[in-house]
Amino acid sequence: MPASVAGPEIERLIQLLARLPGLGPRSARRAALHLIKKREPLMAPLASALQTVIETIQVCGTCGNIDSQNPCTVCIDPRRDASIIVVVADVADLWALERAHAINGRYHVLGGTLSPLEGVGPQDLTIDALVSRAHDPVVKEIILALNATVDGQTTAHYITDLLHDAAVKVTRLAHGVPVGGELDYLDDGTLAAAIKQRTPF
Ligand code: ZN
Repeated sequence: MPASVAGPEIERLIQLLARLPGLGPRSARRAALHLIKKREPLMAPLASALQTVIETIQVCGTCGNIDSQNPCTVCIDPRRDASIIVVVADVADLWALERAHAINGRYHVLGGTLSPLEGVGPQDLTIDALVSRAHDPVVKEIILALNATVDGQTTAHYITDLLHDAAVKVTRLAHGVPVGGELDYLDDGTLAAAIKQRTPF
C-alpha cells in the first residue's frame, strides 16, 4: 500500500473517482488533481451538475429509460414512430443507438438479459411490461436489439415466444460484417453468420 500523499478528503475523492468505469487508481489520481487545479471552471460546475442530476433523475415508467422527466424525452416526442419499439438490455444500448441515429422509434429497456448462471430470471427484467406494450394496436414492430451473446440471444428467443399472439412483427439485428471490416480478420462465427444472413444486392 503506497503512503497517502494527500489528506483524507482528497483521498476519498480519488477512491470514488477510481470506481468509475475506465478509470483505474492512477487515472483517478490524475483526474482528481485536474479537478482540484480547475476548481472554478470545472470542479464547482461538476459538483453542481451532479447534485442536480441526483435531485432530478428518474426511471421512465413506460420504457425504463433514465431521464430527468417521467415519461422520458423519447416517450413524449411526437416525432417518434410509435409503431416501432426497440428492445435493449441497458440504457447504455439505447444511448448507443441514439448516438448512431440508427432508428426513430421508441424503446424498451429490459434492465439486463436472462442469465441462468447469474441467477437473472424473467421476473428480474421488464419483460411483462414489454408484452403488454406489444399488445397496443399502435405497435407494429418489435426490434430485438440485444447483444449477440448466448444470454442476449436466449433472451431474444424467450421474448419472441411470448409475443407470438401479439399482432406485431418481431425482428432482430443482423449479424455480420462490420462497416469497414475486412473478411480476413473476422472470427469464424461472425463470418458464418454473415454468409447465412446474406441479403440481395
Ligand atoms: Zn420512456
